[in-house]
Amino acid sequence: MQVEGGCHCGVSRYKARGTPQHVSVCHCDDCRRCSGAPFVSWAAFSSTDFESSGDIKAYASSTHAVRHFCARCGTGLYYVNEEALPGLVDIQTCTLDNPEALAPQLHVQAAEQLGWTLGLEDLPKFDRFPG
Ligand SMILES: [Zn+2]
Ligand SMILES: [Zn+2]
Repeated sequence: MQVEGGCHCGVSRYKARGTPQHVSVCHCDDCRRCSGAPFVSWAAFSSTDFESSGDIKAYASSTHAVRHFCARCGTGLYYVNEEALPGLVDIQTCTLDNPEALAPQLHVQAAEQLGWTLGLEDLPKFDRFPG
């Protein structure tokens, strides 16, 4: 499998090959704050099968975690943590050109999950907007 993705402005891009070691949805507070979203979906590929280009900056979001984002538009792209995930690059799957390509297999850090996310599928749903 090969996947490609990139940021909103198009300057920063990445490619990964192989089978992801896991595809997960993370509910931790660090993911929430860094993304501004209730949770983040991730797919972990071997760092030897990963390459990126463009204008990418790194931010140490905790002692061992380094989050990489486009310096022009701010889109979060991938995460490296040699302590917790040695040899892996965790890609934010909603930045894939085809975000449907890698469906999550599990939830992680559910201890920090926002309670209201449990009921999202039960809310009224509109193809665009109500009215
Ligand atoms: Zn960008
Ligand atoms: Zn997280």
